[in-house]
Amino acid sequence: CGIVGVLGNHEAAPILVEALKRLEYRGYDSAGIATVNSGTLDRRRAVGKLVNLSDLLVHEPLAGKSGIGHTRWATHGAPNVVNAHPHRAGPVAVVHNGIIENFRELREELAKAGISFVTETDTETVALMTQHYMNEGLSAADAALKTLSRLDGAFALAFLFEGEDDLIVAARKGSPLAIGHGDGEMFVGSDAIALSPLTDRITYLEEGDSAVLTRTSFEIRDANGNLANRAVKKIEIDQ
Ligand code: GLU
Repeated sequence: CGIVGVLGNHEAAPILVEALKRLEYRGYDSAGIATVNSGTLDRRRAVGKLVNLSDLLVHEPLAGKSGIGHTRWATHGAPNVVNAHPHRAGPVAVVHNGIIENFRELREELAKAGISFVTETDTETVALMTQHYMNEGLSAADAALKTLSRLDGAFALAFLFEGEDDLIVAARKGSPLAIGHGDGEMFVGSDAIALSPLTDRITYLEEGDSAVLTRTSFEIRDANGNLANRAVKKIEIDQ
């Protein structure tokens, strides 16, 4: 039950796995990462400990300097590979901690639009809804923000997109999420400890915030969708 994200200048996969290790203390049943490599979105997922994901990545490497990662503690759907995160719908990959309380209503709405599901999770609804809004003509970031405005529950989310090597959308409602600022790099993590080898400059999202991130910019909106100023803090962590 942890989230990490990287818009970096180095290969993302080892950085993501390392950051996930720092969140292992929270407990989890499966893990996965997704990267964008010259526009191409791809993912790897494994049940059990992070070493299983690391082993998979040895045999099926994932290139790219942008990515998101997740350790899952299943709430909706068995702990298997199909239900493991990142969830993907076309150009959208999503990692999620927590619960989307209204996912059944949203799922019905999408089903009426002819959209079908392959997992038992609440999270897949988020990916499919974002894809749906992109199909209606919204940009990746706007589609994610519109989806976020529809979600009830307690959660943290991070989105990554096919064709977008310099974009992560992240949000928190009830679950903490921190943005880490590097030099021409941007990070996301469930807590500052996950990001501590990467940066000590942290912005904590406030309740209901969403963030549109690139390597060199961060745009934060509050729960009402208004642009918000959030401080960058220099933190000290005992490694
Ligand atoms: N509700 C989601 C699931 O069951 C996320 C669980 C978590 O916090 O890891 O897949």
